[in-house]
Amino acid sequence: MKIEAQFVASASGLADCPRWDRVEVAIAGRSNVGKSSLINALTGVKGLARTSKTPGRTRALNFFAMGDDLGLVDLPGYGYAKMSHAEAARIAPMMSEYLEQRPNLAAVLILIDARRGPEREEQSLADTIRSRNLDLIVAATKSDKLKNSERAAAAKKFAALGVQPIWCSATDGEGLNDLRRRLFRLARPAGDPRAA
Ligand code: GDP
Repeated sequence: MKIEAQFVASASGLADCPRWDRVEVAIAGRSNVGKSSLINALTGVKGLARTSKTPGRTRALNFFAMGDDLGLVDLPGYGYAKMSHAEAARIAPMMSEYLEQRPNLAAVLILIDARRGPEREEQSLADTIRSRNLDLIVAATKSDKLKNSERAAAAKKFAALGVQPIWCSATDGEGLNDLRRRLFRLARPAGDPRAA
């Protein structure tokens, strides 16, 4: 499936976020969780999320327009490469400011490796999202790497977050339709004839 999607802007704070009336879904996850692959697979636009990995943009909020009404906001990855103190000190307030004050923001999609399950960072982010009354969507990435016999044990790890994860694979396409539907429903309230 292909959905019209394009990179729009990078922002390092609220002041340079795009002025548009799209409903935004922010996407968070550890480096290497499969965020770029999932963004590309969701839209069917190859190489779309490459922008988020270009120098100068890895620590920014990267905005993509998706379809007619949605904005995807690729948040900086965390966890993997050790961030310098200075970088962390710059990113943390940018993220809280965006999560707390951006009027367009409707939901946060947390990506978690299906085999790994949530850790302290994800639990803490989930708590923040709830305390701000935003929708929380959890996608368990790289689901193709889990054998069917491993699913139940993996699902238990996610239970602590209080939401069922959507099992997703950019490789075999599992969960992509479900996830697209969830996202578009945020932008198009029930009753809108375009709602899936
Ligand atoms: P990011 O750092 O979160 O943007 O992660 P990437 O999208 O760059 O993916 C990191 C690595 O995981 C790459 O080697 C991808 O090929 C691999 N990967 C991403 N998604 C999947 C998936 O759904 N299944 C499998 N098996 N590998 C994946």
